[in-house]
Amino acid sequence: MSAIEELVAELAKLPGIGRKTAQRLTFHLLKQPAETAERLAEAIRRVRGKVMACGVCGNLSDPCPICSDPRRDAALLCVVEESGDVNAIERAGRYRGRYHVLGGRISPLDGIGPDELHLERLVARLTNGSEVREVIVATNPSMEGEATATYLQQLLKPIGVRVTRIARGLPVGGDLEYADAVTIAQALAARREMSETD
Ligand SMILES: [Zn+2]
Repeated sequence: MSAIEELVAELAKLPGIGRKTAQRLTFHLLKQPAETAERLAEAIRRVRGKVMACGVCGNLSDPCPICSDPRRDAALLCVVEESGDVNAIERAGRYRGRYHVLGGRISPLDGIGPDELHLERLVARLTNGSEVREVIVATNPSMEGEATATYLQQLLKPIGVRVTRIARGLPVGGDLEYADAVTIAQALAARREMSETD
């Protein structure tokens, strides 16, 4: 494989980037001064080397300012798919509890099952003298997000913790990460109990 082909192939693996865009990016980089490409390569290396996921909640920040903040309500645990969702809810500025980042959603088509998500760590946080009284399931309102929410409800039921789901103020198929602050605040405020019939 040529160097060009190799970069195109690597870029095309990124989410939202098809082969055509990967080619365009590659040729764009080739037209720039060498330092531009080197800065990009260095930034990628640094982010991988320095940014670590929080050992408690999985948020991409270690140490994590939320887990280490004693003012955050330890009785509330908001479960989200990705770190970007934590940022979105924090931007909305209303939520004072803590988080658990799953690192994805159940998606059989993409080969992602429950084992690929940080569920063991979640269960561990809810047992053994846990202070958590309510788990707010804030997975996205997509098919995969709903399937993940249902799976969580079943998984957590034996633990006896209260499980709520954020309201459907968000557009179906929408992404929490891109929702505006007011919508997120409303979806959280109007959360409701998850029951068997959901
Ligand atoms: Zn954390």
